Amino acid sequence: ETASPALEVLRRVFGYDSFRGEQEAIVGHVAAGGDALVLMPTGGGKSLCYQIPALVRPGVGIVISPLIALMQDQVDALNALGVRAGFLNSSQDFEERRMTEAMYQAGELDLLYLAPERLRVPATLDLLDRGRIALFAIDEAHCVAQWGHDFRPDYLGLSELHERWPSVPRIALTATATQATHAEIASRLKLDEARHFVASFDRPNIQYRIVPKAEPKKQLLDLLRNEHSGDAGIVYCLSRSSVEKTAEFLVANGIAAVPYHAGLDSRTRAENQSRFLREDGLIVVATIAFGMGIDKPDVRFVAHMDLPKSVEGYYQETGRAGRDGLPSTAWLAYGLQDVVQQRKMIDQSEGDDAHRRRQSQHLDAMLALCETVECRRVQLLAYFGQESTACGNCDTCLTPPESWDGTIAAQKLLSTIYRLQRERRQKFGAGQVIDILLGRKTAKVIQHDHDTLTVFGIGEELSESGWRGVVRQLLAQGLLAVEGDYGTLVMTDASAAVLRKERTVNLRREKVTKATSKPDSSS
Ligand code: ADP
Ligand code: ZN
Repeated sequence: ETASPALEVLRRVFGYDSFRGEQEAIVGHVAAGGDALVLMPTGGGKSLCYQIPALVRPGVGIVISPLIALMQDQVDALNALGVRAGFLNSSQDFEERRMTEAMYQAGELDLLYLAPERLRVPATLDLLDRGRIALFAIDEAHCVAQWGHDFRPDYLGLSELHERWPSVPRIALTATATQATHAEIASRLKLDEARHFVASFDRPNIQYRIVPKAEPKKQLLDLLRNEHSGDAGIVYCLSRSSVEKTAEFLVANGIAAVPYHAGLDSRTRAENQSRFLREDGLIVVATIAFGMGIDKPDVRFVAHMDLPKSVEGYYQETGRAGRDGLPSTAWLAYGLQDVVQQRKMIDQSEGDDAHRRRQSQHLDAMLALCETVECRRVQLLAYFGQESTACGNCDTCLTPPESWDGTIAAQKLLSTIYRLQRERRQKFGAGQVIDILLGRKTAKVIQHDHDTLTVFGIGEELSESGWRGVVRQLLAQGLLAVEGDYGTLVMTDASAAVLRKERTVNLRREKVTKATSKPDSSS
């Protein structure tokens, strides 16, 4: 039996026995000159889908990638396999660029990596004309979608490739694909004739867990000590300062961890990244600046200390765990403050109303995932338009949450907000509202004369953290909103129905487990 040219390249050049999943169909289609749109989760094996057709077809495969920092690594890895690869980006000096260009023209390359902004330069297009192009591969294709979370204006220009080189096949690839992003990629890149290859987005070896945030650093320490001792992992934080503090906290507790964020100088960043890739059991504490394109197979956990801005971002970040297929944990701690902070960031963000509305929808979907009483995986895959059944490997499957009738609690909370607004023309954040419900005579309560409100002390059946959970869940259900710099609570149209007793409110019972770890340093 003679192997197809593609299979022969897979074995001889890359040293693998067989194709995985849809790879074979994709490679065959593109090698034969067809256009393709490939949706495959991180770790699914997207690179071979364009590398092998580029090697099989005459000419040079042009790869458009936004990951300038990783081009060198990708090209080195290909060169090590004997593949003739080069790149052109802004990090190079003139001489390096000239050499790569000369190799391209002489047909001495198999693959040429380009940053999308390069294609804005007419000289680059002229250069491409002087060689033979095997295909265009558009990596991280979701960057063309404004609906998504990672939009890059330079990607919009990529539709012109087809006008200039109509007979060259194009393959667009991404690991983030809601139905909306998927459709937008196809239309913006004018992939009208492309065949769509949609792999399953399930990552069965990842266990999804979302817990209420109480003492996040100690909760993290528990997770690491009890379940991931000595494991490599990524801890995501929203801000640079919390990255620094969390990394210091872990180190002070005897856990090997390094920070990574855009505020560190580039040498430290590069060093921490390469230590993470090379050493065993190192933890990177990072902002979301870390991770795109990082291929480390044995990341055993991804922990989020703050709420991600979108389900797509959450899926991508958690997807960096367990690329080797072994059991891994995706752990997220989230609290009321996350919601307040993100609403504030959306309100203050630049851009038009449509942009703010999109960000708001992203946040709502993320909150719905956090508050669901159904299987997390079912909810996650449904977001990507894929149906599935309860997984048995997420927190809600393993310990099904109880729900309780929170109608009366919601009415108490909403009527407190309503009275402050109607009787006093005041708006306050969750802290003051909860103090009133609990009947606490704090200085601020006395100062504002809030102990004379009829609702003062009507909520003593719940604890402070219980009330915080109620506020958070009402926010997630759209029964309450938060606005302004201080996170003041305001009613929504839907709140009124609850106050008028026209609807009931179902809430998820929180199991606030106290952290048991005794940290060596104060947090
Ligand atoms: P993606 O870009 O989709 O995240 P990669 O292309 O980086 O995924 O592939 C993920 C890992 O799987 C890489 O280590 C790659 O070498 C490996 N891989 C891909 N295809 C195969 C295959 N057919 N057989 C074995 N390993 C593969
Ligand atoms: Zn599940």
